[in-house]
Amino acid sequence: NWRDGTLSFDESRRRIAEASQWLAGGVSSNFRLGISPTPLVLDHGDGAYLFDADGNRLIDYYLGMGPMILGHTPQDVRTAVEAQLAKGILFGGQSAIEAEAARLVCEMVPCAERIRFNSSGSEAVQTALRLARAATGRRVVVKFEGHYHGWFDNILWSTTPPADATGPVPGSRGQILDNGIDIAVLPWNDLAVLRERLAQGDVAMVIMEAAMCNQGAIHPLPGYLEGVREACTKTGTILVFDEVITGFRVSPGGIQKRLGVTPDLATFAKAIANGFPVAAIAGRADLMELMANGVMHGGTYNGQAVAMAATVATLRRLQDPATFAALETRGTRLMQGIQAAFDRAGIVATVTGFPEIFHVAIGLTEPARNWAELRRMDRPRYIAFTTALLRHGVRALERGAWFLSTEHDDAVIDATLDAVGRAVQEI
Ligand code: PMP
Repeated sequence: NWRDGTLSFDESRRRIAEASQWLAGGVSSNFRLGISPTPLVLDHGDGAYLFDADGNRLIDYYLGMGPMILGHTPQDVRTAVEAQLAKGILFGGQSAIEAEAARLVCEMVPCAERIRFNSSGSEAVQTALRLARAATGRRVVVKFEGHYHGWFDNILWSTTPPADATGPVPGSRGQILDNGIDIAVLPWNDLAVLRERLAQGDVAMVIMEAAMCNQGAIHPLPGYLEGVREACTKTGTILVFDEVITGFRVSPGGIQKRLGVTPDLATFAKAIANGFPVAAIAGRADLMELMANGVMHGGTYNGQAVAMAATVATLRRLQDPATFAALETRGTRLMQGIQAAFDRAGIVATVTGFPEIFHVAIGLTEPARNWAELRRMDRPRYIAFTTALLRHGVRALERGAWFLSTEHDDAVIDATLDAVGRAVQEI
């Protein structure tokens, strides 16, 4: 019944309600709240597919919110993890597998002269904040409207600001508002505004998604990243690319390799370990070595051996040119197919991003250049689209972009485009 668009999710709905007796809101992350028609309860995965509590087989474009670039059940990662499990889980000390994971990151990522591991992207961003302030002796952090860098008080500002916002907008109740003093929120893709702010001389670091992918997908304008790089160097400001989404996803060396602009520091997570809780900060040796000289960075689970085994196995696959060749070809076909489906239906939409992560902005005739433009997309209609798609057996984020894995082969892409063609008729 996926063809008719009549898949039902009643068992998921029932189990979410039941779990809500114990689990706050029925979920463990606010990004899983309020999904239409219901947050799903998943049972197991297989390659490009997830199977839910209602027994539906869904083609998955969430991919765990990005990490599962090799799909849900990659044999080589499983083999490496099982071998490590038999040898030990967590040592509270260093291991050869952790050093190998670090070596691979330094080999693959242009800015990475040194790296440190931790467990989540939010934590990696905190390390960047501390290093930049220690290195410069300055307080202010420049971030951009619509960009997301984790859920901690000092950086959860203006991730979805309203059009009439006049200053930094906190992202949560209970957030310490004093932190807003040290945050300057600017529109992205506007070099003049950034240059002017940096000229004040009090900015420790500029942090950005070098292509914004956390909601929608926005490319930097030609010359923008190069201009940012130059302005930061000139003013002694640390430039940080938050590559939690783009790292090891839009190329083996992340967005910095794909677009050819090297930051001072970069944060990674998600695709680095295909679903295991691994994140990293990488960058210039002189900055990173501050952690051996007074800058505190900790974490019981940092470099956990099983997660490191997953990291090494994942990165080896991503180093194989065949991996990205396949992602590029199939992702391009999928993007073009989706754009064509909307064009055929006479619905205004633009598909932007990269073959490995892209977005469909319904209602926009041209690619958005910043958050202010992206927020004009037709959100309710997009949610109607992803909801219709789900009933046709395709799971795509209603607030975010489409993630692709190596397991999305031509047959999966064909089935997806079939479902997309049906869903667009229903919205
Ligand atoms: N930065 C970016 C760009 C992200 O997309 C995310 C998570 N979606 C984070 C940081 C935070 O990472 P985590 O959820 O692992 O804390």
